[in-house]
Amino acid sequence: MHAQVQLPNIALHIAGKPFYGQQQAKNLISRSLSSGRLAHAYLFRGPEGVGKQLFARGLAAAVNCSAADGLSACGFCPSCKKLISGSHPDFLLVAPEKGAIKIAQIRKLIKTLSFVPYEAKTRVVLIEDVHTMRQEAANSLLKTLEEPPDNNLLILTADSAGNVLSTIMSRCQSVPFYGLTLEETTEILLKQDDTLDLDTAMLLARLGEGSPGKAQLFHRRELVDFSKELITLLTETVENRDKELGRVLLMAESMAALKEDLPHLFSLIKLMLRDCLLECCGQQSGAEDVSIRKDWSLEQIFAKLEAISQAEKELGRNCNRTLVSEVLLFRLIE
Ligand SMILES: [Zn+2]
Repeated sequence: MHAQVQLPNIALHIAGKPFYGQQQAKNLISRSLSSGRLAHAYLFRGPEGVGKQLFARGLAAAVNCSAADGLSACGFCPSCKKLISGSHPDFLLVAPEKGAIKIAQIRKLIKTLSFVPYEAKTRVVLIEDVHTMRQEAANSLLKTLEEPPDNNLLILTADSAGNVLSTIMSRCQSVPFYGLTLEETTEILLKQDDTLDLDTAMLLARLGEGSPGKAQLFHRRELVDFSKELITLLTETVENRDKELGRVLLMAESMAALKEDLPHLFSLIKLMLRDCLLECCGQQSGAEDVSIRKDWSLEQIFAKLEAISQAEKELGRNCNRTLVSEVLLFRLIE
């Protein structure tokens, strides 16, 4: 069984449900909140799909909740209810339009901020994906970021891979967000969708590489089914090679049909081989449920990893997908 995720000691609740992971962000914001020293502007930075925007909404709820306990909003008071239903007049969202945050959006925001909040103690502005903001839009935001009008809290989010202008960064308090562990991601996926079984959740968590958001993109796609089939193939002991041949050829066809998902499948197999490698060296891999159980030698594992990089190279050169898949599958079951 997978490890049970400990409930965070500093809870953040969104719509009454606990928010898992990101302990450092919780500690940081919670301290500022309890000492009454919340910054005017925060920059939540981290990988995609690890909860930055959800956390921002949770914080927006907490600062205006009439029955908040630290970072945890009640989920039932009028302010919480409006936030949950998306009708809170003092929660403003600025998100990229056609791939970028435009200067017109920032000008509109600044105009709104010149009026006092309608009803909330603190108006919360969430500006998502500021790494998409162009220079001129960023420039027009600088003064507001440095000194927002009273009773306004600005939360900016950015992808860690994206480039955030230094003029923006220097005017915000930075809060780092991290990729989640396999267990945390699995737990979140299971909580979000009670029709998921544990094996599928673990597989999705692996495919998501620490990002529940990314993991959900794979949900119920052919990739999940194929990955399960492949794990079975690699785990079984080959008894009849001739019988196996037909099966592998059929699988190569479904594998080739994964098309743009093939790189994700390769990452997944590499992760599983890494676990085999760790176990081969007498170390715990941490992965217990969805993994390849096989007593391969170090040489065998390295040969399989090499086969994957070979396949990656060939796909990069636009070689025939079915052929690449066949060769790879045969080298994996060797
Ligand atoms: Zn509340």
